[in-house]
Amino acid sequence: MNYAEIKEYDIANGPGVRLSLFVSGCTHRCEGCFNEITWDFNYGAPFTKDTEDEILSLLKDVSYRGLTLLGGEPMEPGNQRALLPFLRRYKKVFPDKDLWCFTGYLMDRDLLEWIPADPDAIAHADEQRLPLHTVAIPETLELLRLIDVLVDGEYMASKKDITLLYKGSSNQRTIDVQKSLAAGRIVQWDPSGVSMSKTAHL
Ligand code: SF4
Repeated sequence: MNYAEIKEYDIANGPGVRLSLFVSGCTHRCEGCFNEITWDFNYGAPFTKDTEDEILSLLKDVSYRGLTLLGGEPMEPGNQRALLPFLRRYKKVFPDKDLWCFTGYLMDRDLLEWIPADPDAIAHADEQRLPLHTVAIPETLELLRLIDVLVDGEYMASKKDITLLYKGSSNQRTIDVQKSLAAGRIVQWDPSGVSMSKTAHL
């Protein structure tokens, strides 16, 4: 995987002060994309162990509330495989910092599928045990278990709304990933109680 930029002290892509990693490569090609140069998987520099070490070192600054992944497309299969080992390290070193990820894919259509093969089974299932099926690649479920908030959906210029918090168009969703995985359905992130500036992502 290549990456395009490491942005320090970012206040536009999630709550609080964040370190943002813009990865390279995106196949969505949204009209009006904010970062078209990152569509090319070869753009930027290789994401190496040194890059990981640099990011983890920068994040020692207590000002950082967390890490944000965007791009490009962090959830392209090759990028998922490259990011997973790094994100395991990040969560281990900084268990109190959060992880946000922006993706053009839909969590419940492109990344995961909850299998309601038998509606009765769902009705009687322990919520924690709802069957999960990875529809992307085997790494996807573990990756999602590390992500706190996923802003999903392609940017749609026709639905652009600059008043939205951390997203560019009204079709996009801000998802509480862990609550969603536990509930077996999409649960929107609740921003109440978080002090933050209001800035659009796209
Ligand atoms: S998903 Fe994001 S990076 Fe990719 S084309 Fe759409 S807006 Fe651009």
